[in-house]
Amino acid sequence: MKTYDVLIIGGGPAAITIAKILGKIKKVGVIRPENYSMIYCAMPYAIEKVVALEKTFKQDSIVTESGADLIRDKVASVDFEAKTVLTEQDQSFAYDKLVIATGSVPFLPPIEGIDFEGVFVFKSEDDLKCLNEAVRTKKIKKAVVVGAGAIGVELALALNNSGLECHLVDMAKTVLPNLLDPEMAVEAEAELKNAGLKLHLGSKTEKIVGNLQAEKIILDSGETIDLTDADNSHGIVVFAVGMRPKVRIFEGSRLEIGKLGIIVNSKMQTNIPDVYSVGDCAQFISGITGELTEGKLATNAVPMARLLAKNMLGANREYSGFFNGAATKAGNLFIGGTGLSEEAAKKKYDVITCHSELTTTFPIMPEAKPVKMKLVADRKTLRVLGAQVVSGNPVADKIDIITLAIQSKLTVVDMANFSYSAQPYQSFFPANNLIVACSEGILDKVNSDNLVY
Ligand SMILES: Cc1cc2nc3c(=O)[nH]c(=O)nc-3n(C[C@H](O)[C@H](O)[C@H](O)COP(=O)(O)OP(=O)(O)OC[C@H]3O[C@@H](n4cnc5c(N)ncnc54)[C@H](O)[C@@H]3O)c2cc1C
Repeated sequence: MKTYDVLIIGGGPAAITIAKILGKIKKVGVIRPENYSMIYCAMPYAIEKVVALEKTFKQDSIVTESGADLIRDKVASVDFEAKTVLTEQDQSFAYDKLVIATGSVPFLPPIEGIDFEGVFVFKSEDDLKCLNEAVRTKKIKKAVVVGAGAIGVELALALNNSGLECHLVDMAKTVLPNLLDPEMAVEAEAELKNAGLKLHLGSKTEKIVGNLQAEKIILDSGETIDLTDADNSHGIVVFAVGMRPKVRIFEGSRLEIGKLGIIVNSKMQTNIPDVYSVGDCAQFISGITGELTEGKLATNAVPMARLLAKNMLGANREYSGFFNGAATKAGNLFIGGTGLSEEAAKKKYDVITCHSELTTTFPIMPEAKPVKMKLVADRKTLRVLGAQVVSGNPVADKIDIITLAIQSKLTVVDMANFSYSAQPYQSFFPANNLIVACSEGILDKVNSDNLVY
């Protein structure tokens, strides 16, 4: 039986990160069943042909060039006493250290009709190919996307831009509810409507009606969305309502699993010696509140994996939790959020906020576009808790600055003293900066309570 220093179950970003760091130094094996690991983030853009479908497939060399073995198989069970794994194709491997990076699977709500033909999720190579095939062959004319989070919004726009009549449903009253507070979502909503999407917000999907094939979606608002067309073509429903950790093969074993995934400590160690877990399959906490949080993102999976790999080389890093930084694009708007929204922060803090609006370049420049920020802070300590940005230009860099501020426990006083850069094509006038404007705005509100900063 082949023995690995480090055996990784999974082939997603978490597994690849570890293989890349350790592959030439240790004997590493990566076990994954798919033909390709995917660039998930680009999948909606393959549907609308912004990128070729094949470009979303990572080549095997991403693992093999690191020096690691790529084993195309699926782990059926792990014997934690013997330190071996058994695959579905009856292969056995022994390990010194095991990393579980089995990721997540899309959640499907247990409603009537969920198993009908025409009901999809959007994660795997097969999901992408099926949806793409359906769109390209023009067999379908209507689509309903359930879930107005980032994946749902990006996919709904992609289907809409591919010529389908597309409906976007969410039980939240506004779009991107985990990213934006309601007043910051207004523009995004208008952008989606302008693009042609039909929004059904504040509506829960109650059931899917049909005869083995999805024909109608019934919402708890009493509304019905008909998927069939005059020529009797069938539409599709895609659920993008969150991910669940993929941990089924460990159920009933002595591996401890919590509500949101495999339980790990700050070094990504599970309760079993020499067994680690990283990425979407692991349960993690908010770096701000210390409470369990959702946030199954590659930008969270990769840092967990990197710190584990570095620790396996002798470092002593600790994972301090997820800070919730994320970005998306809705039509011509770039949108990002980090930390806690005002709604989320209110549950734990006495919150103070400020909105500011400037332009993406000097306002006198030809391509100046509006850019808006909302900053959320704790009134008592003035610690920065979160921010949201909506802009005509990419926002990820702005979001990342605020994430770093939150991670570094900076206050709005620190942020008001932020030393920034300015250039006509790249920022507002030197006279102001969005982060500084929001921070000063919060300090002005606090000063009106007779405190002077
Ligand atoms: C459409 C879409 C868009 C996204 N956009 C973004 C974005 O813009 N930004 C961002 O940060 N994140 C984004 N994400 C989320 C991101 O893709 C995930 O957080 C990330 O892939 C998690 O990485 P992972 O390695 O933990 O797990 P996964 O990528 O889920 O990989 C898990 C791997 O484990 C394998 N596996 C599972 N069980 C077994 C088994 N028994 N044996 C062997 N192998 C097994 C799977 O087959 C898979 O290869 C997006 C996700 C989707 C679906």
